[in-house]
Amino acid sequence: MYDVVIIGSGPAGLSAAIYAKRAGLHAVTLEQSPMSGGQVLNTYEVDNYPGLPGINGFDLGMKFREHADKLGCEFKEAEVCGIKKLAENESSQTSEIQAASLKEKKAAGDEGFAIITDKGKIETKAVIAAMGATHAKLNIPGEEAFAGKGVSYCATCDGAFFRGGVTAVIGGGDVAVEDAIFLARSCEKVYLIHRRDELRAAAILQKEMMALPNVEILWNTVALEIEGEDRVQELVVKNVKTGKRERLRVDGVFVAVGIIPFSDAVREAADCDEKGYLIAGEDCVTSTPGIFAAGDVRKKKLRQIITAAADGANAVTSVLEYLT
Ligand code: NAP
Repeated sequence: MYDVVIIGSGPAGLSAAIYAKRAGLHAVTLEQSPMSGGQVLNTYEVDNYPGLPGINGFDLGMKFREHADKLGCEFKEAEVCGIKKLAENESSQTSEIQAASLKEKKAAGDEGFAIITDKGKIETKAVIAAMGATHAKLNIPGEEAFAGKGVSYCATCDGAFFRGGVTAVIGGGDVAVEDAIFLARSCEKVYLIHRRDELRAAAILQKEMMALPNVEILWNTVALEIEGEDRVQELVVKNVKTGKRERLRVDGVFVAVGIIPFSDAVREAADCDEKGYLIAGEDCVTSTPGIFAAGDVRKKKLRQIITAAADGANAVTSVLEYLT
């Protein structure tokens, strides 16, 4: 049985792996894909991680992983489907004596959990849920039909396909503005389409984007439909103030309207808010003793690489307190 199973290998999971190893815990980090790093891998430039100004997101993700590897952290590729309490599982089919022993173990705080994965069951005393988040969808006509045919959720991954073309980015947060800046380097023109008259993105990003001659911001505008034949050709938009509709000739549409937490596998094991974020404070302690939440999957105010990494450290500290 592991002391702790860390689910996810983004900045929160990798930071937790490093802290767990240094604390002498028997730990394993489960990752869904063979590539550690999470969302940071798709960020072209990270300029707010102290000590590493302007680092490429992919390189930062690799650095985190190299650090964990150097310390000898254990990794396994597996997709987590659910978490079950071992004591609960077992007590239904155990004798009175075994049940008493489980009760004792429970009192000692180490009854443990079974992590159910596509590769089998893993037993652990504690769990750090650090599954991160994924991009939200717009849910407008054409979005699904043209996914991969001009509709994308990752400018750094797919931007090169639109070199010299016209693209539209939908959203007003850090990701949307970063995407617009990135695309403006290779596209003839980029529309930034935002539903309000004020961006949510960091001021420094806004300033950089607004200085670019080939970025046009369409304020108070929503996307209604994505159209085309084999590939995206037009984006139908509407100004919410005037009601005026417009058809934009575009080769690509980049959707950057926020994130949704990857919490499906743990929703029954610990309390989540209405959006699916695991409810836990700065100590990462969830409603279920023994389950801790770290990084973007946790309900929190500021979702950044540095706050995810901090969560990893705090979660391991809480795991140590729980186990002792
Ligand atoms: P976000 O900050 O939640 O912004 C989402 C944007 O999409 C908002 O402007 C929102 O509009 C808009 N939006 C949401 N639903 C929409 C819809 N149905 N139709 C049209 N527009 C819609 O999300 P994000 O930019 O993906 O960033 C996610 C998190 O990562 C944030 O916490 C962000 O700060 C963080 N991040 C940080 C960095 C960095 O530090 N360098 C880089 C990237 C991301 P409203 O503004 O009107 O709500």
